[in-house]
Amino acid sequence: MRAQPKASHYINGDFAEDTQGAGLDVIYPATAERIAQLHLATPNVVELAVESARAAQASWARVKPMERGRILRKAADILRTRNEELARLETLDTGKAIQETLVADPASAADALEFFGCAIAAHNGDHIELGGPFGYTRREPLGVCVGIGAWNYPIQIAAWKAAPALATGNAMVFKPSENTPLSALALAEILTEAGLPGGLFNVVQGAGEVGAQLVGHPAVAKVSLTGSVATGKKVMALASSQMKHGTMELGGKSPIVIFDDADLENAVGGAMLGNFYSTGQICSNGTRVFLQKGIYDRFLDRLSERTRAIRLGDPLDPDTHLGPLVSAEQRERVLSYITLGQEEGAHLHLGGGAPSLQGFEKGFFVEPTIFTEVRDDMRIAREEIFGPVMCVLSFDTEEEAIARANDTEFGLAAGVFTRDMARAHRVVGQLQAGSCWINAYNLTPVELPFGGFKSSGIGRENALAALDHYSQIKAVYVETGNVESPY
Ligand code: NAD
Repeated sequence: MRAQPKASHYINGDFAEDTQGAGLDVIYPATAERIAQLHLATPNVVELAVESARAAQASWARVKPMERGRILRKAADILRTRNEELARLETLDTGKAIQETLVADPASAADALEFFGCAIAAHNGDHIELGGPFGYTRREPLGVCVGIGAWNYPIQIAAWKAAPALATGNAMVFKPSENTPLSALALAEILTEAGLPGGLFNVVQGAGEVGAQLVGHPAVAKVSLTGSVATGKKVMALASSQMKHGTMELGGKSPIVIFDDADLENAVGGAMLGNFYSTGQICSNGTRVFLQKGIYDRFLDRLSERTRAIRLGDPLDPDTHLGPLVSAEQRERVLSYITLGQEEGAHLHLGGGAPSLQGFEKGFFVEPTIFTEVRDDMRIAREEIFGPVMCVLSFDTEEEAIARANDTEFGLAAGVFTRDMARAHRVVGQLQAGSCWINAYNLTPVELPFGGFKSSGIGRENALAALDHYSQIKAVYVETGNVESPY
């Protein structure tokens, strides 16, 4: 299995290499075999990428927004045409099942390019009447923006950042996660094919050190990070020390509150999607499932039955539901939380193992896992695990569920399942989370803003809100009479 790109980086409209950089092995998580070898960016590569972005940005900012949008929409079309090939690349890089990557990864990247490609032409400033004189506002780009990605949705994350950044007239240097470096290069190539001038979307490879070099570069105006809260705090600290803009899309430990009157099959399906999709590696996962006492037994029975039917295995087999975790390190982390949960006194209701699957003995698989008898103060109920591990808790009253759902440092997402719509809206109105779902979970259409409350982040991706985060407002006062001066 090979997925070797033409070179490690993408700078000024073309692939670029610097073999002085330390080696980076790209591993297929299902077999642990090496599928590509890249080099981490040297300071020279970082400098070239930022400089080419800086040089290209000024003229891009003067291109008519409609024209900029047309290029993004063309890139969306190319992504859709190449969906199968890109989904396969994403599966090789992340280990996620192809039945997911075929519908979720390049597809959501294309949606972002299409949405911002369409929306930008109507993203204008305001005209403000001042009784004779008047004012207007201009939305101006920030300049060179840095995007830093996590490994769970590599091409989606790259496009969710690149599309609004480029639409508003910025240039971007994107650093994918060192675990999943491949698909951002494919996106860069596609943007070039769609007509994006060189330098406007550059990709450099590296780990945290390269990320920090980019954030601290004096020519960089903004950073958008998708990653953990710990990394977000470091990145935001560095960016704010230089008064740079920041969008932080960070982690979570989100609640799903399921009331007695919920539709059982929908609630079970929602909770499973919110815990096991992408092998549990989703920031907005609803990993604390609160069940009202009257539905508890029925829910657990159906949940167990449906979870036992999940097929783990070859990610490239279209019938496989769950692939492996992204890396050996991540599997160790998840397994150590499963051990911890048992030590803390939770009941391991289902799963918990690291199966050795025939033909994939070296893969980083973990079974979908359900803990019951979980208490709110246990670490498995408080910390983000980022694997297929669901904690089931029970509650009596609405007030209790809301208070316990909110008792966390995180605030990325939350879900409510009930047939009582008045209650659904009342509860959602009190949940401290940036994304809430009523009778659904983990759907993130580009038309809705996405981002966290509390420690889960700052700023928003997607929707028109993202355009605000990639532009700055200039206010212009226009005098139509004489200057009144006492001097
Ligand atoms: P991570 O924080 O370890 O790394 C994220 C990215 O930051 C990587 O590209 C990494 O190289 C880079 N990085 C690390 N240290 C840095 C530094 N000091 N300066 C600059 N860059 C640095 O996260 P991860 O393990 O790759 O991803 C999992 C985390 O991401 C989870 O916490 C998950 O919840 C979160 N996540 C959030 C969202 C969201 O939209 N809110 C989406 C996906 C993942």
